[in-house]
Amino acid sequence: MKFAVLGTGSVGRAIADRLDELGHDVLIGTRDPDATVARAAADDMGNPTYAEWAAQHPRVRLGSFAEAAGQAEVVVNATNGGASLDVLALAGADALAGKVIIDIANPLDFSQGMPPTLFVKDTDSLAEQIQRAFPSARVVKTLNTMTAALMVRPAELAEGSSVFVSGDDPQAKAVVTALLQEFGHSDVIDLGNLSSARGTEMLLPVWLRLWAALGTPMFNFKIVR
Ligand code: NAP
Repeated sequence: MKFAVLGTGSVGRAIADRLDELGHDVLIGTRDPDATVARAAADDMGNPTYAEWAAQHPRVRLGSFAEAAGQAEVVVNATNGGASLDVLALAGADALAGKVIIDIANPLDFSQGMPPTLFVKDTDSLAEQIQRAFPSARVVKTLNTMTAALMVRPAELAEGSSVFVSGDDPQAKAVVTALLQEFGHSDVIDLGNLSSARGTEMLLPVWLRLWAALGTPMFNFKIVR
């Protein structure tokens, strides 16, 4: 399947790496491809530069957000939550029409320091904002409740854990669920329509405190029943 992965950070790279490994066609979207390739400094998470990462992933192409979305069957939103609506506008409403958007972004506001707050919550969500802005796209919220490495390789934890999906379009959720299973997720919980993304986005304050308390991001929620 042809994927656009919008975002060059930890999440975009993890998703692109795994999709490529699974034999999918991947074009990563970024604001300015030349600037992204030329960016010298590694980020403060210790990730390699984009150029170093790209050298290890010769099949994964890089283009503008519009180039990536235009050629894709499925679009992954792995961008900064505060920029996601702008990024998707750059991708273009026509390019997104009818397509599944896998929305992994979290509505985190770091402007007041750590820990971040949520810039939308309770009665709305980033996923719903995206769906309203691009009504003919089919938004499915998932994977935002775990660290990037576990999104694509959940078996790195010693025991199974859970992943949530929220969306208004059952067929889009079926496409995403199949992909999650390809990634190795065995407990995919359909929470219902897209308004259920309010809850998974609001797990982030808990997730961030767990990260601080445990000293590692390598943990996940497991729904025991
Ligand atoms: P990030 O640093 O949050 O986002 C990186 C991407 O956002 C880049 O591609 C960047 O574009 C784009 N971006 C940033 N500011 C922009 C702006 N003003 N205009 C347009 N584009 C902008 O990367 P991340 O850590 O991989 O996270 C991606 C998303 O996943 C976030 O919403 C995050 O909350 C969520 N998430 C992350 C994790 C994790 O483990 N890191 C876990 C769960 C959910 P360029 O490529 O042009 O620089």
